[in-house]
Order: sequence, then C-alpha cells, then structure tokens
Amino acid sequence: MSDTHLNFIAGEWKPSRGGTTFGDENPARRGSDLCRFQASTAEDMDEAITAANEAFRAWRRTPLADRQHYISEFLKLLQKSSEELAAIVTQENGKTIRESRAEVGSALVEGNYHLNQVAAFYGHTGPGAFQDITTWVQYQPLGVVGVISPWNFPMNVMCRKTLPALLTGNTVVFKPATFTPWSGVFMARLFEQAGLPAGVFNCVTGLGSSIGNVIVQDPRVRAISFTGSTEVGKKIQVKAAANLTRTQLELGGKNALIVMDDASIDKAVDAAMTAGFACAGQWCTSTSRILLHHAIAQPFIEKLVARCEKMVVDDGSREATDMGPVAGPQQYEDICAAIQKARAEGARMIAGGDTPNAAQGYFIRPTVFAGVTPGMSVFQEEIFGPVLAVSAFGTLDEALELANHSIYGLSSAIFTRDLANAKAYIDAIEAGLAHVNIHTGYKEPSMPFGGVKQSGSGLPENSESGLEFFIDRKAIYLRS
Ligand code: NAD
Repeated sequence: MSDTHLNFIAGEWKPSRGGTTFGDENPARRGSDLCRFQASTAEDMDEAITAANEAFRAWRRTPLADRQHYISEFLKLLQKSSEELAAIVTQENGKTIRESRAEVGSALVEGNYHLNQVAAFYGHTGPGAFQDITTWVQYQPLGVVGVISPWNFPMNVMCRKTLPALLTGNTVVFKPATFTPWSGVFMARLFEQAGLPAGVFNCVTGLGSSIGNVIVQDPRVRAISFTGSTEVGKKIQVKAAANLTRTQLELGGKNALIVMDDASIDKAVDAAMTAGFACAGQWCTSTSRILLHHAIAQPFIEKLVARCEKMVVDDGSREATDMGPVAGPQQYEDICAAIQKARAEGARMIAGGDTPNAAQGYFIRPTVFAGVTPGMSVFQEEIFGPVLAVSAFGTLDEALELANHSIYGLSSAIFTRDLANAKAYIDAIEAGLAHVNIHTGYKEPSMPFGGVKQSGSGLPENSESGLEFFIDRKAIYLRS
C-alpha cells in the first residue's frame, strides 16, 4: 500500500473534502504507483485562498529581515535534503539522477540570488522636483499569489516563483503539476519545518482543469505565475483578464541552434546533445531545431548520429544512464505520434527507432530527422521530447529567417567564430534568450528568464523582474 500525501492548507495537513486521491507513476516503470495525492476540489482551493488571504495581513507587515530569515532556513533545509529530493524528482519525473541533482542545485543558486537581491531591490528616494517635499516609490506586496508549475522541473520552477513572491511579502497558493505532486508536497514540508507562519504558503494537489481554474478566477488572487504549455497559458490569460489579475506566463518553445560554417563542429555537437536530450528533450529551452550551414552539414550530422547511437536510455536512477524516460504515458504517445507524423510528411529519420525497454517504461531513443523543411510539423510544433529536426541553409540571413519562422520565441543559440555573425544574430533573433557558442538551455539567476511571441507574457522570472512581478508601485509625496 503506497503512502497518501495530504494538502498543506493554513499550516495543517488536510485530506481533500472530496475524499478521492490520485496516483504518481514512475515513468521508468509502467503501472507503478509511487504514492497517492489528494484529488482536490474547488472547495479545497477556496479554503487555501482564504488561508493565504488571512495570512497576508500579518505577513505583509513582517519585517523583510524576518522574511529573509524564513527563506534562509528553507534554503538550508533544501540543501540538507538535496539527495532525498533529487531521488524523488527522478522517480516521479524520470530524468537522470544527475539531472535531478542539478535541478536542486539550480533552485539553491536562484533562491540564494533572490534572498540576497531583495534588500537591494527596495527604495528609490529623492527630493521632489518642484516643492520642498520628499518623493519615493514604495513597493507594496500584491496579496495572494497563485503559483502553477509544470512537471519538467517540479521543484526548481516553483522555487523560482514562490521564493521571490514570499520575500516581497505575498502569500502563496501553489498547485504542483499533476504528474509530479510529490516534489511539491516535499517543498511544503520544508516550508513547515522552516517555521513559516500558517497560511503563508499553501499547497493543493489535483487536476489543473478543475482546481487550476479556481485559482485563476478568484478575485482575491492578485497574480498568477504560471509555467506550462502555450495552450493552457492562453486560457489562463483570458480567464485572468476578467479580474485584471496580473499574469506571468512562461510557455512553450521550438528553440533553434544555428551552426555556421566557421563554427567548432565538436562544440556545436556537444551543445546539440546537451540541450537536445537532457531531461529527454523536455526542457522548455531544449534545442529542437538545428539549422546547419551547407558546408558543415555532413560532418555535423555524422558526429551527432554517432553520439546518439551511443546513448544509454534507461531508468534515470542508474548512474550509467545518459537519458531517462519521458515523463508519462500521454507524453510517450504524443511524441511517438509526432515521430510518425514527421516520417509521413517526408522527413528522413537518421537516428532513433525501436527502444527495446519501451515495454517497461516510457523510453524513447534520441531521434533525429534530416531534410526538414519549414512546412513540416516537426519544424513547427513543440514536441517536448528527444526529437531533433535538422534543416540546412546557405547564408546567415536564411538561417535567421528559418529560426524566426515559428510562433515561439523562448531560447536560441548560434555557433560561430565570427563576431559580425554573432552580432547580426543577437540583433535579429526573435527569442527571450540568445546564446553565442553556448547551448540553448544555459541560464543564470541574474538574467531575465522568459520568452517572446507565444513563448511568454508578463515580466520574466529571475533577475530584478522576477521580484518586480510580485509588487505594486505606490508613488509617495511627503511634506514634513
Ligand atoms: P501544462 O500546460 O499541461 O500544465 C502546466 C500546469 O498547468 C500544470 O500544473 C497543470 O496541472 C496546470 N493546468 C492545466 N490546465 C489548467 C487550467 N485550465 N488552469 C490552470 N492550470 C492548469 O504543461 P506541462 O505539460 O506540465 O509542461 C510542459 C510545457 O511547459 C511545455 O510546453 C514547456 O515548454 C512548458 N515549459 C515552459 C517553461 C518556461 O519557462 N517557458 C519551463 C518549463 C516548461
């Protein structure tokens, strides 16, 4: 009998009022049931919002240094439980244990960045321009904030949203992804152990379509920070507009890696392998299109395919595994269908094919399609799996036109030794992240993280904007 986890509402662990639960499958073992979670109802979500709303009155007046203390305690506990948490992430998400350790490491780096940055964030004071008055812009917390996260980074994404929200004086209702609730509930336990006052952080598990809507539509919720698909992000934007609820939407991508004829082929292949197949191609910043200059296309492809063939695709908890399974049955089916469609549309599959252990888990071998043209779905649609689409070009202008031929604009990269090429790419690429000689997934906490076009909307996460999203500005004029 597997353990059953409860919701964390108003500082207490509670079962759902609906009395039903759902399971959590390890994608490396079809049919497994790691533990069970509350299939929460609208009433549970309402109770969490009420708790967060009541806790806000005291939390907003809690001195910044005290808020920092709680978050610092939380980060110490996170550091201490890194290995246990990484094992949970690997079990419920499927990514390799190395990738899960890196995810926890990234949450710690980002969390410490926000913890240190928040003090510098406050306070712009000056003399008034026209009279003997003092002016300043006072930052106010918003109130209750809804955090909705995806399954691909089950703990890092929620930390990137929740920690700045709490540091700036907001209270949080968090809904983890349905596939990966365990990491979310684990984080709630760390907040409890860190001594956070009751109601400041609440975690409610369940289906996005039922309880997600409740957070988005409740007028007491002042902002929604959402990471997930463009399709769901659009629905949230429309529903949130009814109350003018602020949204931060981090959405899908179809990220292009451009390789020029003067590039180091080995380094560019390394970048394609890292960002193409880490987390089984399920980073939002994964490379999914590779655009190759005609002159280096052949040697690049030969090296890429040789590396793909050597990859060990297996249970992510084994240290020797290079790539784990995809996250669940729906992803598996969708990715297999996208591969079939690419073949039917005439793309040439040069790596991939049958995966012997697919009967045990949702394993898909690294897959590469060559001869891809912009009209094909494999060029346009976010597959969110270990599938690369390779196209060729003759000039940088052509490469940029291909790269920008997408509804998405999250990340991108170019490999070149020519500074003029690099500058032209930086200016023209339609993406929130531009990398020169670095893979598409690289990011740092001091830099804004967010997409353009249909990859995102609202202020980006991380950097100053990651804090700014959670505050209102009040213009103060004081005559003493
Ligand atoms: P998803 O959109 O299916 O779900 C994301 C979250 O939204 C989940 O918690 C889900 O339960 C919830 N949800 C679903 N329907 C909802 C609704 N109607 N109202 C409110 N919440 C709802 O996405 P996913 O499959 O979990 O994640 C994969 C997607 O996330 C990919 O498109 C990927 O590119 C994107 N992603 C983007 C970033 C980024 O920073 N831009 C990072 C990671 C993942």
